Amino acid sequence: MDKKSGNVICTLPGQTSSTIIIGGHFDFADEGTGIVDDWSGASLLPSLYQALKSRPRRHTFVFVAFTAEERGLVGSSRYVRNMTPEQKALTRAFVNLECLGLTTVKVWTSRSTPALVTRLSEVARMLGIPLQGINVDRVGDDDTHPFLSAHIPVISIHSVTQETWSILHSPRDRMDAINFEDYYAAYKLAAYYLAYLDVAAE
Ligand SMILES: [Zn+2]
Repeated sequence: MDKKSGNVICTLPGQTSSTIIIGGHFDFADEGTGIVDDWSGASLLPSLYQALKSRPRRHTFVFVAFTAEERGLVGSSRYVRNMTPEQKALTRAFVNLECLGLTTVKVWTSRSTPALVTRLSEVARMLGIPLQGINVDRVGDDDTHPFLSAHIPVISIHSVTQETWSILHSPRDRMDAINFEDYYAAYKLAAYYLAYLDVAAE
């Protein structure tokens, strides 16, 4: 636990200090239980750590559960503010997991760095997992914002569509909003994607 920011941070060292950061947020809105937004993302972090830890890694992976996303990206903004210029330069990607399992996996294309989206679609194709681009510029923001402002490559992975958007921040944000097949596919895609980035990213 990083006492200053309230974020929960776990580092998995690799052979180099080139870094890939994976994040989700553990706070939630007043309405509903926050299972979708964003326990669905934050709770995958330990499983992704487990998936990566037993194989040799080039990159150092940093898993961050951010605080206070819903209060204006407070945790992620503090995290980026506390990074040194060297840490920023060494960060090859920030992968954000936000609101998974509502539908099949989506990527916020207009927010994400094109090269990272290309790699995600390559992995999705390899695994036979459907992946669609759905932009949510008009309806929300997420923890990729401060990273992008610091010129760090980002990708925002979610599952929100026009039809499911209203579940967020409502009493309907609870366990039965999750489709477990879609949620498992999101986990599998994220796990393979991180392993792929480890090999493919500089
Ligand atoms: Zn959220």
